[in-house]
Amino acid sequence: MIDLIDSHAHLDFPQFNDDREIVIKRAREAGLVAILNVGTDLASSRAAVALAEQYDFIYAAVGVHPHDAKTVTPDVLAELRALARHPKVVAVGEIGLDYYRDLSPRPVQRRAFADQLALAAELRLPVVIHSREAHDDVLAVLREWGRFPPGGGTEGGVTSPPVGGIEGGRGILHSYSAGLERLEEVLKLGFSIGISGPVTFPKATGVRAVAAAVSLERLLVETDCPYLTPVPYRGRRNEPAYVRYVIEAVARARGTSAEVVAHATADNAWRLLRCRF
Ligand SMILES: [Zn+2]
Repeated sequence: MIDLIDSHAHLDFPQFNDDREIVIKRAREAGLVAILNVGTDLASSRAAVALAEQYDFIYAAVGVHPHDAKTVTPDVLAELRALARHPKVVAVGEIGLDYYRDLSPRPVQRRAFADQLALAAELRLPVVIHSREAHDDVLAVLREWGRFPPGGGTEGGVTSPPVGGIEGGRGILHSYSAGLERLEEVLKLGFSIGISGPVTFPKATGVRAVAAAVSLERLLVETDCPYLTPVPYRGRRNEPAYVRYVIEAVARARGTSAEVVAHATADNAWRLLRCRF
């Protein structure tokens, strides 16, 4: 069986309360060799670490989603810092900006994003970025953050991480929706591209164009489960085992085999999961 990696899952969410163990077992049986479970607030980050402790093939990212940006206090940052010292915490996330739902005021979102990017730089961890209808602001922030290769540095309150030898090692733009026109800059800034369920949707030609254009060594696949369920299960709850439908759709878009995409995305994910700048 081919090794698969889901680089973005929320198995701690209540949608899995009734059958979490079964879902995780199905993932293993489907060939998943690693799952990055991504925190969305402090409680969810703690739960992600707990899952990573319980299952050898689950890894954790800790962070506060832009929806909950208003909860990011100095105390919360201190707790995230402490959680991030756990050996199975491999990234800070998901962090970013969401101007679609605007559940936290935009200046508060920008502050929380900046604070958590600084934390990631301090900890030398890659970041998992959520960007929804906020791509220009996200890129402006990341441009600043990534300004000091290769040694890192601080200027004007922006702390930038040193860059190791890892291609795409600064982090992931998860469930990438910033379009073909921003792809080149995102890659130049040292980020990898996460492709999720919408690549299987009939109308999502833009996502397929990105999946076809991104260089193979920067490509990651993810479910974002319980959300963004791919065809043929669209409309139902998503789970890591369904990452194969994302892989198959990416392969069709690129005119290659699912094996090639599975191998490459697993290699890329392993490099990131083991990345310490
Ligand atoms: Zn997510």
